[in-house]
Amino acid sequence: MPIDNATIAAIATPPGEGGIGVIRISGPDAADIAAAVFRRHRRRGEIPIDLRTTESHRLHYGIIVDPSTGERIDDVLLAWMRGPRTYTRQDTVEISCHGGPLPLRETLRVVLAAGARHAEPGEFTLRAFLNGRLDLAQAEAVVQVIGARTAESLRLAVSDLAGDLTRRLDPANAALVSLLAYLDAAADFPDDEIDIDATGHRADGLIAVDQGLAAAEEALAAVIAGSHAGMLYREGARIALVGCPNVGKSSLLNALLRTERAIVTPIAGTTRDVIEETINLEGIPATLLDTAGIVETEDVVERIGVERSRAALQTASAIVFVLDGSCDPQPGDIEIAGLLAARAADQQVPVVIARNKADLPDRGDLAPVLGLLPGIPVVALSATTGVGLAGLERTLAAALRAGEGSAQPAMISARQRAALDRALAHVHDAQEAWALGVPQDLLATSVRAALHAVGEVTGENVDEAVLAEIFSRFCIGK
Ligand code: GDP
Repeated sequence: MPIDNATIAAIATPPGEGGIGVIRISGPDAADIAAAVFRRHRRRGEIPIDLRTTESHRLHYGIIVDPSTGERIDDVLLAWMRGPRTYTRQDTVEISCHGGPLPLRETLRVVLAAGARHAEPGEFTLRAFLNGRLDLAQAEAVVQVIGARTAESLRLAVSDLAGDLTRRLDPANAALVSLLAYLDAAADFPDDEIDIDATGHRADGLIAVDQGLAAAEEALAAVIAGSHAGMLYREGARIALVGCPNVGKSSLLNALLRTERAIVTPIAGTTRDVIEETINLEGIPATLLDTAGIVETEDVVERIGVERSRAALQTASAIVFVLDGSCDPQPGDIEIAGLLAARAADQQVPVVIARNKADLPDRGDLAPVLGLLPGIPVVALSATTGVGLAGLERTLAAALRAGEGSAQPAMISARQRAALDRALAHVHDAQEAWALGVPQDLLATSVRAALHAVGEVTGENVDEAVLAEIFSRFCIGK
């Protein structure tokens, strides 16, 4: 992504037809470019406008024309917003056209012909970041607000947009900065008064090394602890419905979706592909994976059920093991239970057993399966009647949230999490170095590295490659 001072323009609304569609223009020439293609409606005809001398943050009604031909393109509302009181902090014009592909495409064409460059994905937000309007954590929250799939994800993303994440990192940042200032001063004036006694306390009352490191550790650990829950609300969970053919996986998927998207038939193994659908599981966007069989001979079907289940297990964040509660477990059920026992043990993936077909009288004895999966919650339900579904949803949501503890959710990305893990590791290095009494310049190296890693989240230290990676996830026009 070019980092330049060109005036950029793009269609800011999604493709397709809508009530209105918006063209956004940002940069030093926004006023002149807009004025070149816009004429105000006046009783005596359409007249040009000089936006530079016009009051800011006002709407103007008029038309877009192609200045090279005089052709009229669309009736529009033009919003003129002089920087820095704008999203990008640059002069900005937003043109609200009729929301069809052609008015928008033609308006963008004449705007580009008048001297704007087509914006890259996320380039408006990149400018908001580069011009200090948003810090990096806030800029990343913009993607989350746009992509939020449940009300809870939206609430968390909006608080990050308001600067919550950066505020939560402030104590770590402040402690590390003053620690570094102190350590650097101590290195510059080694014989000066400001040395530290054995407990790390200083006569002049500046931050003590161990206290500073402890403050940084606490703030970082709190955000990291909240990241498990944050990731749940942000990325969502992948829930695999596994089990043998005909136990009712597709029926359960349909019941959870409350639609008829997966095809259910009484013939075993007729759903050909792994089906993916997303539901709102108490605020967690949860993608359900139905691992189905294929019509083959009887034992092959059973094999495939096992193989499909095995594959889905690799990517799932939680597993619903569906059993037909109306009959005794089949060899395939026992085999899957064995796989799940291994996975639940070494990968810490929550498993919930759905004992399906509770509406049927003839109950099987599930002891051989339950024996392999001790302590796993069992929910009796019927995919057909819907009885027990709410219990399954509650049990699943609780199992997914089990790792989060009481920490306040932090909606951080994998990139942000990696940076904070690094920051915390450097703080731990510094604590160890301090305890061992290593020279202060080595201590300072760890503190500086920790500070740098925190800066990768807030955006104080971030290189162009990282910026390009972050902003490439945005849509055009944002
Ligand atoms: P899958 O192969 O595991 O996906 O199983 P299906 O969802 O295709 O269901 C297989 C058969 O069991 C179908 O005839 C369903 O109607 C039936 N079935 C599924 N769930 C229930 C249930 O809760 N009660 C009863 N009585 N039948 C069910």
